[in-house]
Amino acid sequence: MKKLNLNLIGLAFFSLMLFACGTDDADEIDDGMDDDETEVDQVDISTLAAKFYHTDAVSVTFDETWVTITSSNLPDHKSMYYPMNNPLYEPYDEPNNPDFKKNPGEIGAQNYVFKIPRYPSEAANKESTPMGPMGVSINSIVFFNQEAAPGDDILEELNTFDQYEGHPAGDAYHYHIEPIWLTENKGSDAFLGFLLDGFPVYGPMENGKIITNDDLDDYHGHTSATADFPDGIYHYHITEDLPWINGDGFYGEAGTITQ
Ligand SMILES: [Zn+2]
Ligand SMILES: [Zn+2]
Repeated sequence: MKKLNLNLIGLAFFSLMLFACGTDDADEIDDGMDDDETEVDQVDISTLAAKFYHTDAVSVTFDETWVTITSSNLPDHKSMYYPMNNPLYEPYDEPNNPDFKKNPGEIGAQNYVFKIPRYPSEAANKESTPMGPMGVSINSIVFFNQEAAPGDDILEELNTFDQYEGHPAGDAYHYHIEPIWLTENKGSDAFLGFLLDGFPVYGPMENGKIITNDDLDDYHGHTSATADFPDGIYHYHITEDLPWINGDGFYGEAGTITQ
């Protein structure tokens, strides 16, 4: 609570400062943001739209307030979970894992629409991530959190991951852990996608160093410069250890997803 109060005092002070300097800004075009939001610290994530490369399956549009990502959630890599008549079907077996087993589902097209804040901001009250999609990657595949479906154990589900560390729930393919197809092709320090709050997700490396859970806050992120945002931005990292992508919930105000 103490921190929150300090933030509120800071915000009030900053609002006064803005008001005091207001005449200079009178000619600014209204960008549709609330009057009590300050733009100073806000970063425009729409600059990353072109990184969503698997354009057969994912498209990105944006307006002043929202980035809209539409995904049919179809991997551009091979998988044992594609139907056998799909050119991307490839059988797989994990010879070093005696507990390896295949899930019953096969990959099918989804119709996900993510509406995420173009200028993400920290949430006053951090919300848990939902079961099901909590974000979307640059090849259209959705990110799930560290929870298995009710009644299942996520550590056992690891045994069902395919050659690129994903698996389906029903016919909805997803990643819980590092999507190695992306980090192998784009780099371990690359931008990999967004969570629903608009904050970007990066791979497990930064400035040549492996990021561990100890480097990150409870939500599994931190604020620093990235190649895409040299002035700094809050961002998540995918780490090798549980909870992998997100920790205790969204750092920012979450957008919406329809499916
Ligand atoms: Zn899963
Ligand atoms: Zn970082």
